[in-house]
Amino acid sequence: MKCLRALVIVLILVLPVMAQKSLVLPPDRIVDLTYAFDANSVYWPTAEQFKLETDFEGMTDKGYFYSAYRYSAAEHGGTHLDSPVHFAKGRYTVDQLPLERLMGPAIVIDATEKCATNADYLVSVADFENWEKRNGKIPPGTIVLLRTGFGKFYPDRKKYLGTEERGAEAVAKLHFPGLDPVAARWLTTNRSIKAIGLDTASIDYGQSTLFESHRALFEKNVPAFENVANLDQLPAKGFSVIALPMKIKGGSGGPLRIIAVL
Ligand SMILES: [Zn+2]
Repeated sequence: MKCLRALVIVLILVLPVMAQKSLVLPPDRIVDLTYAFDANSVYWPTAEQFKLETDFEGMTDKGYFYSAYRYSAAEHGGTHLDSPVHFAKGRYTVDQLPLERLMGPAIVIDATEKCATNADYLVSVADFENWEKRNGKIPPGTIVLLRTGFGKFYPDRKKYLGTEERGAEAVAKLHFPGLDPVAARWLTTNRSIKAIGLDTASIDYGQSTLFESHRALFEKNVPAFENVANLDQLPAKGFSVIALPMKIKGGSGGPLRIIAVL
């Protein structure tokens, strides 16, 4: 009898673990952090926009429906991944990134309030320290997401980027928040994160000219996710992220499908 009771207790403990391993997820626990790609997707003012052309769409002469399209775009636009080689010679290209760097437990640092009154806001060491005061030290292997609140403007380029102009002259007119280079160095020196992402077009703020946060992170092979969607639907911690970019051989980045599992 005791033996049976023990067996039942073991089953009660083990079954949920076995069920988790089956990877069957209730849909209400998955948040898509990806914007769909179309002609309105936000790209850097100097980059080629996403373009979808029709090869064929309609009924064939054999009586069945068929559609096929052709797409082209710059690597860096829409929801995408920056691979470390984007700003650091010899670091990972997008196909070389170890998969374990692209999935794992994640947190959200919420800087929405400060960014609402300052489009040039830099997410600071103090913002990370405040998160840690409430939630404990950022554990090794965490994927860090920065919420600036600018996601609500996507894809309105004027509000999201600060300018809807294109071309090289438009770059100086970019105004959106990013990660303070001091905080980037603090993260790579004092914490051990897998990756970082945010709801703006670049991990460096719009007014950056030297891209110091990119360089600090990528030197340490930490990739970045940019134009991440729906960060307002995530808690501060207690969820996981899976971020799988297009596996472009030798690529400096690429279109990204990123999801959160709550
Ligand atoms: Zn990029």
